[in-house]
Amino acid sequence: MAETDKNPRTGEGELAGRIALVTGASRGIGRGIAKKLASLGATVLVNYNGSEEKARAVAAEIVSDGGKAQCVGCDVSDFAACGSMIEEIIKEYGRVDILVNNAGVTRDNLIMRMSEEDYDRVLDTNLKGAFNTIRHLSKHFLKQRSGKIVNISSVSGVLGNAGQANYSASKAGLIGLTKSVARELASRGVCVNAVAPGFIDTDMTQALSEKAREAGVAAVPMGKMGSVEDIAETVAFLAGDRSNYITGQVICVDGGMAI
Ligand code: NAP
Repeated sequence: MAETDKNPRTGEGELAGRIALVTGASRGIGRGIAKKLASLGATVLVNYNGSEEKARAVAAEIVSDGGKAQCVGCDVSDFAACGSMIEEIIKEYGRVDILVNNAGVTRDNLIMRMSEEDYDRVLDTNLKGAFNTIRHLSKHFLKQRSGKIVNISSVSGVLGNAGQANYSASKAGLIGLTKSVARELASRGVCVNAVAPGFIDTDMTQALSEKAREAGVAAVPMGKMGSVEDIAETVAFLAGDRSNYITGQVICVDGGMAI
């Protein structure tokens, strides 16, 4: 844990004692979020689907930095598998305090050429995946009368984006899910918010052509890509006590793209 992340009086991070589940934490933004929450003292469950080795490396890095982490494999688009993952976590840790729905995929194409399979895959992972984890955890959050849910949306869900009808629909859907669940759980002390990243340097954007990356950066008023740390900082704020009176909000972390 970095010295600056500790309370100088208690020597503990602001998330000490909290249990956090981060989906899609084997790489990219999820990895950055997992490391940030762990640096603030949370015990982090590092969820992955295909990249088991990378997830193990993330957990090992956290532990070698003095934090606490464990890997949990599960395809978030699978309702039953999410139920089993969450049951196992509750059995072992007794609670979850922070849920970050970060797992996401793209299958970009123009609407005329988009296959049904690519539409379904993106919606099933990005939107139904968040429903699955929230659905299984909500009864625990309600019982605890506390909890923080942060859904990773996208500026594409706020503005729309040509070539990303499936992705934008999933990310706009996440905003609706966020606001509705925030209204349902607010009176029980559970906060539900969304972060909408802009153009962030990860595997997802590395996969774009040079031309598409240039066009992406050109759409950012601040003139540069964001980093995973930029997103992780905002998620950490929404996961901790400094944001206790904030719910149902969408925070764009995008260098001004959605202005
Ligand atoms: P990334 O580098 O491609 O990583 C995606 C992560 O999601 C991986 O850890 C992957 O795990 C996981 N994942 C994918 N399908 C999964 C499934 N079915 N079950 C569990 N985990 C799954 O992407 P990223 O750029 O970090 O994006 C993270 C989130 O931010 C996504 O929701 C994305 O839509 C959003 N976002 C990104 C940007 C950007 O510019 N990068 C902008 C806006 C929003 P495995 O490898 O283990 O399968």
